[in-house]
Amino acid sequence: MRYVSTRGGAPELDFEGVLLAGLARDGGLYVPESWPRLTADDLRGFGGLPYADVAARVMRPFVGDCLPPAEFEALVAESYAGFDHAAVAPMAQLGSNEWLLELFHGPTLAFKDFALQLLGRLFDRVLARRGERVTVVGATSGDTGSAAIEACRGREAVDIFILHPKGRVSEVQRRQMTTVDAANVHNIAIDGTFDDCQDLVKAMFNDGAFRDSMRLSAVNSINWARIMAQTVYYVTAAVALGAPDRRIAFSVPTGNFGDVFAGYAAARMGLPVAKLIVATNANDILDRFFETGEMTARPVVPTLSPAMDIQVSSNFERLLFDMHGRDGRKVSQAMTAFRESGAMTAPAEAMEDARALFASARLDDDGIRAEIADTLSATGHVVDPHTATALHAGRVRRGDPATPLVCLATAHPAKFPDAVEQATGRRPALPERLATLMELPERMTGLPNDLAAVQDHLRARSRVGVGA
Ligand SMILES: *Cc1c(COP(=O)(O)O)cnc(C)c1O
Repeated sequence: MRYVSTRGGAPELDFEGVLLAGLARDGGLYVPESWPRLTADDLRGFGGLPYADVAARVMRPFVGDCLPPAEFEALVAESYAGFDHAAVAPMAQLGSNEWLLELFHGPTLAFKDFALQLLGRLFDRVLARRGERVTVVGATSGDTGSAAIEACRGREAVDIFILHPKGRVSEVQRRQMTTVDAANVHNIAIDGTFDDCQDLVKAMFNDGAFRDSMRLSAVNSINWARIMAQTVYYVTAAVALGAPDRRIAFSVPTGNFGDVFAGYAAARMGLPVAKLIVATNANDILDRFFETGEMTARPVVPTLSPAMDIQVSSNFERLLFDMHGRDGRKVSQAMTAFRESGAMTAPAEAMEDARALFASARLDDDGIRAEIADTLSATGHVVDPHTATALHAGRVRRGDPATPLVCLATAHPAKFPDAVEQATGRRPALPERLATLMELPERMTGLPNDLAAVQDHLRARSRVGVGA
């Protein structure tokens, strides 16, 4: 499989290349040059298989010959062996034809473990073979950080630096990052928003000399391997509910557009997806986009669902690439215009196509509290604030009630105890594996929202920087 940049100005790479590169050199994102096909027989064959077996088969065409099949299968099996549910991504029925896809049974209790447990292992394997090291840099508004750190901790070939917006991630989420006791793990609290953190990471990648000397690499949702890994649970959920013979709708709590783009990728591969419902919180740029066809940025407001407190969703560019007929020049122009004016308009015909698959809805904090409370009283399930947006969006946009609706539960409610307590009057208990979290000492460095300060910090601490 070859990969091309969404901006058309970077070299084509193979899987190993995009795994290590993250962002493309022209500022674009890598996408497969064509979509592999899942046939109806493939889908039927997945019925009843263990999650890891389906995962290896769905991902195989994306990996190509970068790893021998048996080695790849072993890595995949190992990646999901640490999940605390035999089904890995089990479903719970909430109501008539309505399901919760529980993506929080991994080591950090959020869906990002699905991609990052695999990514950490792929990195280590590929780098060891090449005798190389990398510096992983990432920005997090919550779950990416802990999931990435958990995936990279103690790995010989990797130093990891995670930027989070100071005071804007929940205490549990912060502690999941800062209490990890490993010399290769570096937490940075930035005086700013998540978008500031993301801009700093992008700026480091766009500084060619810095990028090369530090051998920068990304685990943010811009890394193609993450999207690839996330397509799998759309497939297992759809197959469990009757694919290929039935179409399935998915409602997805959305921030950087990585998770819902994985659903789009699954649809392009042939999964019978009836609808992809983009659920947003009060930061509703995507909801406004699907409504009006125009993307206009507004300042980010903090909400009860911080992993979705994003205005400019980096993975959206991958959809934009298809909406512009896979013409990198047009994407590049649109992104430049967006950066300069804060607005962009999608081509009208492409918007019509997009609306045939995508729908959207927003839910503000009052709505989130009400949704958590209503879900508990109606179903007995306690859901986290991100999941609440998907339940609401699914209900108002699902369309035909005969179509099964799968709402993605992206985090365990115990990761957001304050919000859940506000809504229900009950504080969810931390699962066993995180029992000591609130007592362990924290390690982090506070830095201003300043590129030079962050770069100096990395230079001083990365083992790559020292050796270069
Ligand atoms: C990251 C995250 C999201 C948003 O996912 P994207 O892929 O960024 O759209 C939603 N919910 C939770 C709990 C998350 O951690």
